[in-house]
Amino acid sequence: MDVEPERIREKKVAIQDGVDISGHWNRMFEQRVIWEYDTSALDEVTAIEGAESLGNCYQCGKCTPVCPVDHVGDYSPRKIFRKVQMGSSLFESPDLWLCTTCMNCLRVCPKEVNMIKIMPAVREQAVLQGKAPTELSQAFENTFRYGNPLGEPARKRADWVKGAGVPVPIMAQLRRPVDVLWFVECYPAYHPRGKDAARGLARIFHALDVDYGILGIEEKCSCDSQRLAGEKGLFEMHTEQNIKTFGKYQFNTLVTADPHALNAFKHEYPKYGAEYTVLHYTQFLAPLLGRIPFKKSLPYRVTFHDPCYLGRHNGEYEAPRRLLEAIPGIELTEMARCKANGYCCGGGGGGMWLDGLSKGHVSERLSERRVREAVSTGADVLAVCCPYEISRFEDAVKSTGNEGKLIVRDIIELIDESMRG
Ligand code: SF4
Ligand code: SF4
Repeated sequence: MDVEPERIREKKVAIQDGVDISGHWNRMFEQRVIWEYDTSALDEVTAIEGAESLGNCYQCGKCTPVCPVDHVGDYSPRKIFRKVQMGSSLFESPDLWLCTTCMNCLRVCPKEVNMIKIMPAVREQAVLQGKAPTELSQAFENTFRYGNPLGEPARKRADWVKGAGVPVPIMAQLRRPVDVLWFVECYPAYHPRGKDAARGLARIFHALDVDYGILGIEEKCSCDSQRLAGEKGLFEMHTEQNIKTFGKYQFNTLVTADPHALNAFKHEYPKYGAEYTVLHYTQFLAPLLGRIPFKKSLPYRVTFHDPCYLGRHNGEYEAPRRLLEAIPGIELTEMARCKANGYCCGGGGGGMWLDGLSKGHVSERLSERRVREAVSTGADVLAVCCPYEISRFEDAVKSTGNEGKLIVRDIIELIDESMRG
């Protein structure tokens, strides 16, 4: 790494005290090159509550080979620390926005340099200073105005149920306790491919006779990704509203198809006094496997992408695989980077809304790198179970020229396809 000239000083350094030939005490000096670090940029970061651990880094380098951004660019906590140590402000650097909070570095870091806390804490200050990238600001603005980052009308949040082909109970109309409160979340409620999976899950719940309800237009974004991208205020506002809405109804288990919402409910909502039994849909369905009425054999060779916020953040690797292996006809094959060392789709930590900024700093999108890995296994289906992934990977299949070689399916869609015969 280049060293800025002004950070190198020639200094006289005392090396020995003694008596010279005239009998006077004297001090011998040596001209040495001293590296003087201006630590103000590092101090600026480590003074922020939550970001202190960046100062722990001792440059061992273990984080660099596991950082998904470094695979397509020049990035890692080690590199960020070094730049900041050399006086470069993280607030002014695109580095602040490239981390997807995938947590792979924390998994290997011996000094517990915690990017999952550092990034949101520093980003929050940057957001308060008006330094958020424009595309991210737009997602924040949409969430504030409409309760979802896509900017879709709040009143249309439950419109997806029309195409489900089965009744989808809405809590405000049910007016009775249910076993399962299904938190649908924004992308399954609004994104065309998310809606496909939401409708599929409604059909699966119907087939399994699950006693459930959804919140419909009362539901607001869980905002976990907005929190990680630096908008804690927005997160708190929506958390307060969701907790109030949950409190109106009686249910045993909160089930969601979105690992980001799962993460918020499990780890963040308790900080606001709200604790629930919460499961990702794969965790809810895996114990019910024997009751799923599979009909058709699906002759697919399938590889599975572990979502960072289901796997590393919440320790669930087996439930999705149990579901895939139970679908008749499916042959499961693993990518080299899987489970705890799974690669990242690039959508977490606000990355979902930062592809424009990232483009200038990476050789290809993380989702494109992952699609190439999936293709290299010989799989014809890339299975996912996070609503961010379906659109990211489908775009990446097109942009990498792999149309016709690989299709992307939520596990819900594969179960639904087999059930429907
Ligand atoms: S693994 Fe931790 S201590 Fe080692 S270089 Fe990375 S951040 Fe620093
Ligand atoms: S959290 Fe993931 S993307 Fe961020 S620095 Fe660590 S390994 Fe890289």
